[in-house]
Order: sequence, then C-alpha cells, then structure tokens
Amino acid sequence: MIAVDLAGDTDFAGFRNTARRLAAHGVKPADVVWRTGRETGDLFGSTEALPPPTVAETEVKVPRAFVPLAEAVICHSAPERLSLLYQILYRFRIEPKLLEIASDPDVTAARRMEKAVGRDVHKMHAFVRFRELATPEGPHFIAFFEPEHFIEERASGFFVRRFAPMRWSVLTPRLSLHWDLESLTVGPGARREDAPSEDATEDLWRTYFSHIFNPARLKVKAMTAEMPKKYWRNLPEATVIGDLIAGAEARVAAMIAAAPTAPPAHHERLQARGGDRMAAGIVGPQAIDEIGQTAGIGLAGIRAEADGCRRCALWAGATQTVFGEGPERAEVVFVGEQPGDREDLAGRPFVGPAGQVFDEAIEEAGIDRTLAYVTNAVKHFKNEPRGKRRIHKKPNGAEIEACRWWLAQELTVIKPKLIVGLGGTALQSLLDRPVKITEIRGKFMDFDDGPSVFATVHPSYLLRLPDPEMKARERQRFVDDLKLVAERIRAMG
Ligand code: SF4
Repeated sequence: MIAVDLAGDTDFAGFRNTARRLAAHGVKPADVVWRTGRETGDLFGSTEALPPPTVAETEVKVPRAFVPLAEAVICHSAPERLSLLYQILYRFRIEPKLLEIASDPDVTAARRMEKAVGRDVHKMHAFVRFRELATPEGPHFIAFFEPEHFIEERASGFFVRRFAPMRWSVLTPRLSLHWDLESLTVGPGARREDAPSEDATEDLWRTYFSHIFNPARLKVKAMTAEMPKKYWRNLPEATVIGDLIAGAEARVAAMIAAAPTAPPAHHERLQARGGDRMAAGIVGPQAIDEIGQTAGIGLAGIRAEADGCRRCALWAGATQTVFGEGPERAEVVFVGEQPGDREDLAGRPFVGPAGQVFDEAIEEAGIDRTLAYVTNAVKHFKNEPRGKRRIHKKPNGAEIEACRWWLAQELTVIKPKLIVGLGGTALQSLLDRPVKITEIRGKFMDFDDGPSVFATVHPSYLLRLPDPEMKARERQRFVDDLKLVAERIRAMG
C-alpha cells in the first residue's frame, strides 16, 4: 500500500502530480491511500514509499474535461473523492472516452460530487451576510458561514469581485478568507462567536425580505429547500421567516377580501384635470416612497447592500452593481435604463457613449449635472456575449420589477421634487407599468403626494439612429425636452 500525503483538503496540484506518477508506474487504485491530514489513527498499517519520478509521467494523458471536473470534485468533503478521481484517471489508460459514458458508476459519482460542490458554492454566494465592525483602519465587514464542502477558496473569487472596495473577512470553521483591498489571504478556521452578531444593516435585510415575501406564493417545502434551515442561524432575515409563514394564510385572505381596491383619490383628480391617459393606473413615485425602507443607512449603506444583490439573475452576467451617483439631497433625479458596457466596467452610471450625449445635452439645456442625481432603473448590465463583445439586451418586466426596489430606496433617501425618466424602461419602473414613450414624451406628470415625473427618450436612442439628419433633429428634440426640465428646475426655486 502506498500512502500519499497531500498538503491540504483541496491540494489539487499535489493530487495531479502524484496521480500522474502513480499511473505512469501502473500503481493500481486499490494500492493507494490518499491522506489530507484529517485521518485519525493508523488505519492502513505499514505503507510503502512513493515510486520515484519518471519521464513517463508526462505521457499520462487525461481528457481536457477531466481537469475542471477534478478541480470541483476535490472540493467535496467525502474522504473517498481522491480515490475516486485516481480511479477515473487510472482507467483513462485504456478507456480514454470514459467521461462520455454518463452511466458509468465512477463518472456518475464524480458528476454528483461536482454538482453538490456547485450547489454549495451557490449557497455560500447567496447566504453570506456581512456585519460591519468599526476598526482603526475603517469599517471591516465580517461574515460567518458553514459550508458543507471544502469550497471556501473556490467561492472566494466572487466576493473579491463583488466587494473589492470593502475590507472583508469570511470566517468558516475550516479556514478564513481575508480581503484587504489588494490581496486575498487565507487564515485559520474560526468560530461563530468570532464574527460580530448584529449591525445596522440587519433591519434592512429584514425589511427587504418582508417586502419581497409574497404570501400567495408561499411553498414552505420549496423555500426550505432553497434556503435550508442550517443557514438560518447566520441570516438576519431568518428571524422574520417564522412570523411571515405563520401569517401567510391570513394575509392571503386579506388580499382576496381587499380586491378590487378603489383607485386613490388623486387618480380621479388627475383625469379630471385634462384626462392625462398616463395618469390612470399610475402606482408611481408615491408608492415607491411607501415601499422604500431604508432603515436610516443612507445612500452609502444602500449602495453597499445593492453590491450583493441577487434579486434577479442579471448580477451573474455583469461585472458589478452600478449604483446611482450625485448629491443625496438632489432636487432632480435622472433615471436611465441600465448600465452599458463601459458603465459596467467603471462601476459608474452614464460614463459611456450615451452618457456623453446626455452630458452635452443637459449642458446645452442649462442643467448643472453636478446638482442632479443620475441612476438607472436596473443596476446590472444585461448583455449577451458575442465573441469578445457584450451586446446590450433590454431588461424584461420581471427584472425591472426586481430592481425597482433599489430605485425606490434611492428615491426615498433623496426625496427629489422632479424625476426625469429617460426612455421606456425607466418610465415603466417609475410608473409601474409598460408605457408608450411617444404618448408621454415631453410631459410633466404631477402628483399631490410625490415628485413630478417628466418623460423623454434615452440618449442611447440618438446613438442608434443611422440617418445623420434625423439624428440631428432628434438630438435637438431631446435638448428641447431638457430645456423644459431646466425651466421647471428654475421654477422650483
Ligand atoms: S439587476 Fe437589480 S435586482 Fe437584479 S441583481 Fe442587479 S441589482 Fe439586483
């Protein structure tokens, strides 16, 4: 029996090099025991030394698909994962197409482990909750998490990308990950008590979860499968789950009894004031104000929360959340559609080609951009990779609705007097329904209990026009729209 000692649970390089050497010497899988330092006692009695290096190692060929599979499987916590991988690698000598036999028991077992590791990584990304700790160097965000498998390093790239501007640590019983704004280091494991237990963002998470919880769609089994109870200990929102489930039936009954509801009084007044068709059915800014719950953490706190948002799938294809920017007390807010390629990379709104058109147009209209807050209805770049390019894709209704929560948070803090919706997506989010831009363009929609909304096109529309004459004409129309906005700003005093 040959004993192989690896440098740790996920020492892939150590496994790969040794496995090649063993296979080159024809050592059978049954004659190898793999150790990572977790084994207790002397289970295997006396063992032989590793065979010496041989040039034949370089001739041990494995299919290309085996490498990512093995890199995932080595992160599984089952002790037999290493012998399974070596067994597969050994069989490649006479079965080079082994991985293509989906029904093979070894391949099935490896694929099952790969899937379990992927699921665990996904759970870590979804359920890590940072808590803020004040330190002399500034805020440090600490989270405690208990993964099922050895996935911490595998999951770490996501946190580095998403939370690059923050100092953070993720503690787990096996090891800890530390990001100091420049590099990631791995330290020893920790206990739950080593992480702070509560901070100001807890209330926001609870409010957020209560808000997105729809009692009419409650499926307790599916919910606990997606958010297993073992993670609840580290989730601030877990404290409200029990009450929400208990009250779900009563809330559904109340929703049924309450429908249909009478339209708010201001709808009638708006229609009487000239039959503005767009006013009918507006749920709009005043409702946004109702759902906006900021728990007093300001724009900076909301921005930090939005950085880790998973309310829809768009985060997965983008580099980062692109939050709005501008003064927290701006009187006017411009809302665009979503970040483009340049904004996604820069992490700032309206800095790409459309942003340049926008900058020039508002300057010509006499609006000081530095006094306005600019943001987007959807905070992640929806795109489709095509070769080396990422092609813009329009967000769908569900994505606009999901991201509306963040826009609501921004508007609740800023409390603007005027919101300018740039294009259909922005106006759909603001008015809570799809709109035809041609019907509302150039109009102010005034409300008794919320900011006015003005509609115009998105500057990217101008970039897409192929005919130079038409482009010049439409650009002038856009500037004229913005001049109306400038007049209104002056009138607001
Ligand atoms: S697009 Fe908006 S809702 Fe969707 S993940 Fe990004 S921030 Fe969250």
